Amino acid sequence: MSVPDPSRRAILFDIDGTLLRSRGSAAIFDDAMESVFGIRGDLGSIRPDGMTDPDILATLMNGRSPVHGAITPRLLAKFEVRLARALADGVARGDVSVWALPGVAALLRELSRRDDALLGIVTGNMRATARIKLGAVGLQGYFPDGGYGSDSPVRDLLPGVALRRMSQRADVILDARRSVMIGDTPHDLSAARAHGVRCVLVATGQYTHDELVAAGPDVLLEDLSDGERALRAILGEE
Ligand SMILES: [Mg+2]
Repeated sequence: MSVPDPSRRAILFDIDGTLLRSRGSAAIFDDAMESVFGIRGDLGSIRPDGMTDPDILATLMNGRSPVHGAITPRLLAKFEVRLARALADGVARGDVSVWALPGVAALLRELSRRDDALLGIVTGNMRATARIKLGAVGLQGYFPDGGYGSDSPVRDLLPGVALRRMSQRADVILDARRSVMIGDTPHDLSAARAHGVRCVLVATGQYTHDELVAAGPDVLLEDLSDGERALRAILGEE
């Protein structure tokens, strides 16, 4: 039976704007949306950062009904496969570039060596596309589990999904109040707060320093390039 483990904490990372950035994936999203739902959206017309993919789809449809009537789980699964395949092809062809943000690789190496830390993902990406993006920069091995846009359109629910999965995998009960979320938007902060999880925001995404200050994170970092500072912020030692 699983028991609470006060010696270990979950360290939950967002992907886009936090661990990595990419270029060239917006057109692929628009194409996959059109091929599965029959409606062409324009990802460039909204501010998708921090939104889940199902939420982005609904926003781009803007009240229009997809050809099959609704965004059903079956169509979302089809969209996930289509998007992941197109993204993988785009990366292989060089149409999509993905790069890890400064300090990320060293920080993950350091955190993964600690017995008191379990790494996980909380992202609005569908699970399959998250894997492609992380794989493109060699980071997928750090993150066996997490909460994804394919689990729920409601981002605030995703830290709970991640903590449940990570607890099951480690056969312990991870305490949300000892855990921490690292993200780049006020949506990451809101999701963390919904579960009593501490939140470190980094200004390496599309939100400005001032916007992130206004959101009120526990710590705001310009980026993760100062490994010691980032580690202290994540572990709550500053
Ligand atoms: Mg992000």
